[in-house]
Amino acid sequence: MPPVSLLKIPQAEIPKLRRHLLAWFAKRKRDLPWRRTRDPYRIWISEIMLQQTRVAAVIPYYENFLAKFPTMQSLARARTETVLGLWAGLGYYSRARNLHRAAKEIVALHGGHFPRDYEATLALPGVGRYTAAAVLSIAYDEPLAVLDGNVARVIARIGAVRGDLRAPALWRELESTAQNLLARRVPGDWNQAMMELGATVCTPKSPRCGECSVAQWCRARNLGVAEELPSPRKKQTTQKVTLAAGVFLDPQGRTLLVRQTGGDGALFSRMWQFPALEVTADPASDLARYLHENFKIAVNGNVRQIETARHTVTFRDIRLVPFVISVARLPRIEGSRTVILGRFGHLPISNATRKIAQSALADVAKPRNS
Ligand code: SF4
Repeated sequence: MPPVSLLKIPQAEIPKLRRHLLAWFAKRKRDLPWRRTRDPYRIWISEIMLQQTRVAAVIPYYENFLAKFPTMQSLARARTETVLGLWAGLGYYSRARNLHRAAKEIVALHGGHFPRDYEATLALPGVGRYTAAAVLSIAYDEPLAVLDGNVARVIARIGAVRGDLRAPALWRELESTAQNLLARRVPGDWNQAMMELGATVCTPKSPRCGECSVAQWCRARNLGVAEELPSPRKKQTTQKVTLAAGVFLDPQGRTLLVRQTGGDGALFSRMWQFPALEVTADPASDLARYLHENFKIAVNGNVRQIETARHTVTFRDIRLVPFVISVARLPRIEGSRTVILGRFGHLPISNATRKIAQSALADVAKPRNS
């Protein structure tokens, strides 16, 4: 059976298309830190960090992370908290936890060497088909094509493919087409060239077809529909959430942080945060009840609501409603941490927690009449 191809380009033309794209990539590729290495460990770190995150945001994290953990062994030996601390601000923290677990597995099962085998790579925590194909092709020249949003868009435009690209049947055809198109002698360069084209030229809005090295084969361009493709996906509705948080504060400016690993108030699993819960009606009384039921803490009279803040995580639009709870002595909460408000050091802290702390600090700095 001939390979499925959505491109509708004569097979004899494919080598020429490959040459054009690879020549463009060799000349125009961005100089990125992870492109200066073939070390699978470094390439893997970069691929995990780049998931859902912009290149410019990743670069300082990548460099910092590798300065601290230059080898698989050093990452495997690290404390989870240290790994999460270096990830703080990058978001999607399950990536960091999986990375850490995978490093331990690689040391235990593969002698500390990133596996070469596709199935063994897929078995690692946090590694899906895209990441496995990216690392193995770039580091080991394995002939595996990547398919991510950028590559899918490029293929959809070249073939003038309509429909929801993420629909399982169409996605499988895109995978098959990407594999058919792969330049098997230089799979790492090819994959990066496709991704680079999608990221810098064949961009979601206003593709720059005039500068495109594969324009002559592109049906969307020839039909004048490049900007209409891919077809827009149905938008997932944003969920509005209100979160009440309690910022205890003693006369020395100290506060308490806890780790909420689940439940309505867990902003980020296993990150340190102020005690918090999701509320629907009255944040003040819901928070008071929550503190009493969970920590046996009674708050009366010494509570004031401070400036709210907003925080967005994927499809959640969170309204943060913080309360400063002034106390003579911080209450005892098992497993909590005492820190000076706003000074978190290397503790893994989410941006939402930082916003709450900023609001509390601004409130504390206000002059009071009494
Ligand atoms: Fe994308 Fe335009 Fe190139 Fe087609 S010609 S692949 S639409 S940039």
